[in-house]
Amino acid sequence: MLRIACPYCGERDQVEFTYGGDAASGFPALADADLDRWTDAVFIRDNPRGEHRELWQHQHGCRQWLYVVRDTVTHAIQSVVPARDASPAAGADGR
Ligand SMILES: [Zn+2]
Repeated sequence: MLRIACPYCGERDQVEFTYGGDAASGFPALADADLDRWTDAVFIRDNPRGEHRELWQHQHGCRQWLYVVRDTVTHAIQSVVPARDASPAAGADGR
């Protein structure tokens, strides 16, 4: 079972968390009205094999949003950082 080390609560089972989506790429600026860019950002995602940056919410714990860098093959987690402390366009280390 996948276990995520919440920075606030400690290591917990994945069932306490809700997947919040791909965090590997960002969104266009809010004022950007280009439909193709928004369609790509919302619906067109890579499906990488290996390291992947994701958003998770500790829904049944502290309810904080987290950036998790997880290997999609082994499910090994490389880093977990609070989303409010990290850049949305952060590097692979989660910061
Ligand atoms: Zn937590």
